[in-house]
Amino acid sequence: MKATPSKGGMVKDALEEANVSLGAGAEKVVMIKCPSCGKLKEEDSKFCQECGREI
Ligand SMILES: [Zn+2]
Repeated sequence: MKATPSKGGMVKDALEEANVSLGAGAEKVVMIKCPSCGKLKEEDSKFCQECGREI
């Protein structure tokens, strides 16, 4: 019974921001280009899968 108009507005704003984030960041995996061979690798992998260079 404590619902206030101001709080409801904040929740709506948060949901709108979430929708924008989901639309822009659909791909979770960030790819980094290896400076040695140019192959794209996943950000969470420390070494290049192509040439083995540590990035
Ligand atoms: Zn490489």
